[in-house]
Amino acid sequence: MNANTPNLAPINQIPNPYGHSLPSYLQADNLGPWGVYLQQVDRVIPYLGHLARWAETLKRPKRALIVDVPIELDNGTIAHFEGYRVQHNTSRGPGKGGVRFHQDVTLSEVMALSAWMSVKNAAVNVPYGGAKGGIRVDPKTLSRGELERMTRRYTSEIGIIIGPTKDIPAPDVNTNEQIMAWMMDTYSMNEGATATGVVTGKPIDLGGSLGRREATGRGVYTVGAEAAHHLGMDISKARVAVQGFGNVGGIAGKLFAQAGARIVAVQDHGGTIYREAGLDVPALLAHVATQGSVAGFAQAESIEPDTFWDVDCDILIPAALEQQITSKNAGRIKARMVIEGANGPTTPEADDILHERNILVLPDVIANAGGVTVSYFEWVQDFSSFFWTEDEINARLVRIMKEAFAGVWHVAQEKKVSLRTATFIVACTRMLRARELRGLYP
Ligand code: NAD
Repeated sequence: MNANTPNLAPINQIPNPYGHSLPSYLQADNLGPWGVYLQQVDRVIPYLGHLARWAETLKRPKRALIVDVPIELDNGTIAHFEGYRVQHNTSRGPGKGGVRFHQDVTLSEVMALSAWMSVKNAAVNVPYGGAKGGIRVDPKTLSRGELERMTRRYTSEIGIIIGPTKDIPAPDVNTNEQIMAWMMDTYSMNEGATATGVVTGKPIDLGGSLGRREATGRGVYTVGAEAAHHLGMDISKARVAVQGFGNVGGIAGKLFAQAGARIVAVQDHGGTIYREAGLDVPALLAHVATQGSVAGFAQAESIEPDTFWDVDCDILIPAALEQQITSKNAGRIKARMVIEGANGPTTPEADDILHERNILVLPDVIANAGGVTVSYFEWVQDFSSFFWTEDEINARLVRIMKEAFAGVWHVAQEKKVSLRTATFIVACTRMLRARELRGLYP
């Protein structure tokens, strides 16, 4: 290097206190979740008949936007965050899917999550395509003011592709009603008109829907009860184990208990508890509300986290994180049925092990679709400015979930495939039929 050459650090050594030095889409491991999705599509292509000529559509996101999100921190420094919004498919309607704030978010993950939203929305036949967004940030490190500024700048940056008829975000990991309110306000300010329909999962006072909070857990219970009926399993005598006792697991556990099932084991981030006679679910929910975890619940014994997978039960509900059921524990699971409340809780290897062991897996793309179904109701109510009762919402949710499950069950029986493959067949056929009918422009 001569004296005139600037002393620049290699790009991967430039310090960045808020994440990896290189943008995640340049990192070697970036094909992870998207690679899993591509494998799932490949399994379905042989069942698509003449529509298979359009299958390449499923393997390419329609549009992926990467945005820089700069904000001034409370201490006066400027931080830059990496944000994404991916629209995987819009053949059946506007994009729809959540926004995730997490330090591990990558473009590959957002692409995969957007594709799984396309599949989920088509599986329950709501008139949406699939989309997803995220910011690579640990929101726990931000003050409330910093969080609001980051959310608003991100919304403004992706404002060129979202909108009530284009793409409608919703909450996901680490985003909530307040964040949706800030997103709705930012978009509305830029448009010069209040646009409640630009996001769902809003507070009730801003056009949110009754029943949205319980919707995913209610959907988990509804498809679980339908599948139990097919298996000849009596829910009122079933033993249930639940991983994750938050919005999804807590509500699903409550509804199974109300149907007479015994919730024998619950695991969350703080601990794992067991009670042979069945846990008192309302008391446990009250304990979690005040203590933040199931740990320390007096009317149960505490067990080692790993023994959760050995618990003698009929139904297992993973409702926490991705990749929890793996090749290491799938062989130990005693349940006859696994209901995926979480997104992606079962690895592809574990899926094959459960299939070989004749354990029925109700896949995420149908089992946790209750949330987006009531998001659809919220969007419809916002457009008509006429709001439904909670009973109407729950009745419509149950009808849609039962119809969707019946269709998928029929395809699984007819084609002798897993419910996951059957759900992909139903959903991908709907997406590609729409693609074919619309034709290619120009
Ligand atoms: P939540 O934050 O309300 O609850 C998450 C639960 O998981 C908590 O009980 C937490 O303690 C537990 N958990 C966290 N880390 C854990 C660990 N290492 N081991 C065991 N438990 C752990 O979240 P939620 O809304 O219930 O979402 C749970 C899952 O369901 C996520 O995968 C989410 O993407 C998926 N999902 C949620 C919705 C929805 O409407 N909320 C819709 C579709 C899918």
